[in-house]
Amino acid sequence: MTDPVARTFAGKRLFVHEEQYLQFGYTSIDFSSRDLKRLFPSRPLLFLKQVHSWRILSAEEWRPGSEADGLLLERPGAVAVIQTADCLPLFFWDSRRRRGGVLHVGWRGLLQGIEERLAARLGKELGEFSFFLGPAIEGGCYEVGEELADLFAGKPYADRIFSPIRPGKYHLDIKSGLKLSLASAGVAAERIRDCGLCTHCSPGLFPSFRRDGGTGRRIFNFLLLPGDGRAGA
Ligand SMILES: [Zn+2]
Repeated sequence: MTDPVARTFAGKRLFVHEEQYLQFGYTSIDFSSRDLKRLFPSRPLLFLKQVHSWRILSAEEWRPGSEADGLLLERPGAVAVIQTADCLPLFFWDSRRRRGGVLHVGWRGLLQGIEERLAARLGKELGEFSFFLGPAIEGGCYEVGEELADLFAGKPYADRIFSPIRPGKYHLDIKSGLKLSLASAGVAAERIRDCGLCTHCSPGLFPSFRRDGGTGRRIFNFLLLPGDGRAGA
């Protein structure tokens, strides 16, 4: 698998990964949704109304305004889009690059097990899939209260993702929770990669809700299967 390639499009920065013509990536704080449409002029962009759920739609099930937090492409054509600003984009694709997509995973999605829903949906083919964790707020920057730790108490990985920092306060490591959950669903460790970028630690590069507040700025995380047309080409 290739490392991300930092590109510019109309003077704005983005990161693109290529996996034998499968493409996925994430945009910088500079990008607007209009820029994203210009990046893929000939392809439909599937945006979701993201609601911190466990719901995953295929492109065939998608409709404008659909409420869900995951998209699964099963044929070339459309671009799956997930918007984030600290929550985690989880990209996935199979070895033949015939199916792939992206999930929106914040603490609510992790608590509801959106990654387990995906694993169930992929079924016997799960072992053929690779996963990539995009830019998100990392454990050392994400302070939460005790009530959140209590909500996760039933998860087998709970004690590995909450680190106490002072009475009643913890750091929450969503990336680790996701990796541990995928591993216990049967995904091999070498099939799970992480960009290692923290949104909160990257001012000027990525928006961060925790750092900046509600500016409306988002990262556009995109994935498209091999087919006609390439990003920025
Ligand atoms: Zn950070």
